[in-house]
Amino acid sequence: MKLTIVGSGYVGLVAGTCFADSGNDVICVDVDAAKIKTLNSGQLPIYEPGLEELVRKNVREKRLSFSTDLASAVSQSEVVVIAVGTPEGESGDADLQHLLAAAEEIGRAMKGYTVLVDKSTVPVGTADRVRETVSRVTTHPFDVVSNPEFLKEGAAIDDFLKPDRVVIGATSERAQKIMAELYAPFVRTENPILFMDTRSAELTKYASNAMLATRISFMNDIAMLCERVGADVDAVRKGMGADSRIGYPFLFPGVGYGGSCFPKDVKALVAAARDSGIEFDLLRAVERTNEHQKRLLLQKAMKHYGDLAGKHFAIWGLAFKPRTDDMREAPSLVMLEGLMGKGATLAAHDPVATQVAQRHFGLRVRYTQTPYEALEKADGLFVLTEWNEFRRPDFDRMKKLMKQPVVFDGRNIFDPVRMRERGFIYFGIGRP
Ligand code: NAD
Repeated sequence: MKLTIVGSGYVGLVAGTCFADSGNDVICVDVDAAKIKTLNSGQLPIYEPGLEELVRKNVREKRLSFSTDLASAVSQSEVVVIAVGTPEGESGDADLQHLLAAAEEIGRAMKGYTVLVDKSTVPVGTADRVRETVSRVTTHPFDVVSNPEFLKEGAAIDDFLKPDRVVIGATSERAQKIMAELYAPFVRTENPILFMDTRSAELTKYASNAMLATRISFMNDIAMLCERVGADVDAVRKGMGADSRIGYPFLFPGVGYGGSCFPKDVKALVAAARDSGIEFDLLRAVERTNEHQKRLLLQKAMKHYGDLAGKHFAIWGLAFKPRTDDMREAPSLVMLEGLMGKGATLAAHDPVATQVAQRHFGLRVRYTQTPYEALEKADGLFVLTEWNEFRRPDFDRMKKLMKQPVVFDGRNIFDPVRMRERGFIYFGIGRP
């Protein structure tokens, strides 16, 4: 099949590359000329494990190319996938300006029957708006399909190639057939393609992310309770997860959820519910807990040191989660600003997010090549991202480098008892 992907970010680039890898001819388009230039020079504008090799292979085999020329790409394509950003709008709702602008441009460029696939996360009713937008500017037949994406940054390729499920909102049989063919290589095991109407597909994405965010905030509240009553959240988590009705995933307390999806999607669902006359109180509480959680370690540090002015801290982890350089809505943004706002100086290490961090903090933070360098003369360490390389450090070396052996473990990656035995003053989340 000939495909155009409109928007070559975390989702578009992964989807385009995986579709190319399964034998389709794919052109990834973006309005960001610098991004396309980077891609055409053989580099990637983002960090995602395994993506670079897969992009190179498919470019070499001439199934994948990059362009800023949307009209030319669309005119050659039977399927056009929209994967542009849908950031938070002024009142928390999703801002659809990029998506509708792309839809109009696609409509003008179509040369025959086209399936427009919306992969961006969008509010219920967006497929109808896309349909109206496109029909105003074309006389060619087309279908609009809602195909929300569930990949996780850091494991995006695997998620795309082996999805738990593929959700396709499409009423036309012709579009359903094309989508089934497109996804057939990825659902060869029992993982299903779930066909439904476009509105249900659109809501499925928000409902899924909101549920996951709810589990995180729920555990963060349980962790707070654990601290008050002297229980260990890690034991509670295991006890809960063993129940097959609950399961283990997403029961980890921490410094709050972040990233480009959960925060904005929870807000968008609250806003959409409000537009329909429903106050989604549960999700508003989820957000409140999350905001509180991002500041929890700052509060613990204030309580421990009294005053943070003149203190120097090491930060391990800047990205919102491991194996990505994405810092959108990362809890580290709040933590680092909070620490610096109280007069502390910082040295930070992240295996891949340093460049992105520089855009946020400039030279106000010292970035180090190794986690150990960040510890030199530090009054304390904050672990904000659970990168694997932070899990088994040389604790003796750490202690020698630090001015004070104090660890604020925002991801509960260390054992509190062992840490104290090793001579650290240790603060975790929800652990005695
Ligand atoms: P991103 O910001 O990384 O990429 C979006 C790209 O679209 C940018 O490169 C931008 O320049 C481009 N763009 C904007 N307007 C355009 C236009 N008119 N024509 C061509 N290109 C245009 O965003 P992302 O993280 O890939 O997310 C895209 C969508 O997918 C969002 O709706 C997001 O909620 C959803 N999503 C993201 C993830 C994730 O993990 N990042 C997972 C699932 C779903």
